[in-house]
Amino acid sequence: MESSLSLSKDTSFFGHPKALVICFLTEMWERFSYYGMRALLIFYLTQHFLFSDQIAAGIFGSYISLVYITPVIGGIISDRYLGATKSVVVGGVLLAVGHLGMAIEGNAASSSSLDGSIIVERDELYLQIFYLSLAFIIMGVGFLKGNISTLVGSLYSQNDVRRDGAFTLFYMGINAGSFLGALVCGFLLQYKGFSYGFGAAGIGMLFGLAVFLYGKNLFGQAAAPKNPQALRQNILPFINLEIIIYLLIGCGILTCYQLMQMPSLVGGLLSASLLLATAIIVTYSLTKCEPRDRDRMLVCLFLMSYQIIFWALFEQTASSLSLMTDRNFDRVILGLEIPAAAFQSVNAFFIILLAPLFNVAWVALAKKGWEPSTPAKFALALIQLGIGFLLLVYGASLAADPAKVALIWLILMYLLHTTGELCISPVGLSMTSRLSTPSVVGMMMGCWFLASAAGNYVSGMIAGLTGSGNIEGSPIDPEIALQSYIEVYMAAGFYSLAIGIFALIITPLIKKFMHESI
Ligand code: GLN
Repeated sequence: MESSLSLSKDTSFFGHPKALVICFLTEMWERFSYYGMRALLIFYLTQHFLFSDQIAAGIFGSYISLVYITPVIGGIISDRYLGATKSVVVGGVLLAVGHLGMAIEGNAASSSSLDGSIIVERDELYLQIFYLSLAFIIMGVGFLKGNISTLVGSLYSQNDVRRDGAFTLFYMGINAGSFLGALVCGFLLQYKGFSYGFGAAGIGMLFGLAVFLYGKNLFGQAAAPKNPQALRQNILPFINLEIIIYLLIGCGILTCYQLMQMPSLVGGLLSASLLLATAIIVTYSLTKCEPRDRDRMLVCLFLMSYQIIFWALFEQTASSLSLMTDRNFDRVILGLEIPAAAFQSVNAFFIILLAPLFNVAWVALAKKGWEPSTPAKFALALIQLGIGFLLLVYGASLAADPAKVALIWLILMYLLHTTGELCISPVGLSMTSRLSTPSVVGMMMGCWFLASAAGNYVSGMIAGLTGSGNIEGSPIDPEIALQSYIEVYMAAGFYSLAIGIFALIITPLIKKFMHESI
């Protein structure tokens, strides 16, 4: 607390403490590696390991959901034992190892035809290295992602007016990393190959780790372990608590390594975690809260569930939409063929462009008393997501050649998906911190990410539906592929639009239970 107060006085970086630069750059490089690697992942699964679209989507969905489950574990260990600074270093090391591991490409899988059926042969050693690298990344994100955000918050006292601005800057760092990552790794994949793309993600993470190690002393006591003596105490002969924690993190990596090979178990684990979290929050709200706080906690829990639908459809970007971009879009601009993976940077580009405008617009609307309430913003997010998909479907249906759909429809869809994201993602983080009872705000933040994890998992299932006609190892017919994307995205568009309209209708009822003016 003391350190956060002393840091609050530091205004050396555009009116913010110097340590914010360290958070900004560390998270920028972490997101560079995360989104850069993720931009290549679906292609690695389908083109290097020759998994069918359905199996690839299952593995992909498990990965992008596990990365949002582990921040709950990383947060608890940081709060109780390691402190945020040590946790970020642990996360950074695990991430660098994982991303550099991904660069060990090995032999590509081969397919041959035998008696009319297709046999795919994969090099088992490299496949295991791949799963293990993913497991390192999953645990690494768990220790870095949530805790670096905690560090941003720790730089300001609770009522410091610069707090929101700091998070906006930080969010721009996230998207600057995401933009550059998908672009750099996407182009490296196109012109050099997978190991260069993944290697660049690993080098990016090394930069992030170096920046954090350089500036970690700026964070002071608030981010240090709560009880350093306890960490040094031997629990077993010659093995202290800190080492036990690292050994347990190792066990966590092995568990994720196993889970990545059993995507159906991830679904079960997620469902159980969601049920347990819901039961805990409902019980806590009903037994421990005053009526006003109880209502706000339950509304918060309810609104979090919108996120599952949102990310389930939004996150098609890195899976089925990427494959569609590769197979069905005319990607030649001014004679240069843009790699499909690079289109994953479009969303981040629009965020960087539009986030400041949204901030200004919300403030201007609020002054006139016209700012939409949080549940109305969430409903608008779903509506924009739905319209985005319907525009894409419309544009795709106009194409004379199934391999040459006009890019403008993809860009328009990403524009609407981005404005939708700006109505739900940053708004949701702020809602969670505002509506939650202070003593359980950490747990509620964990639940916010858990809902995001569930959305990501369902996104893998939906991506699998788009590839249902595709047989492992055999060439894809763009016309059949396009038909399947049109069917699935049309359903996605209509469902999202319908749920969004329903959500808008029930907004006044939800607002009543929030007990606040907006
Ligand atoms: N795009 C944001 C990030 O990477 C939010 C992702 C999410 O909450 N699912 O931090």
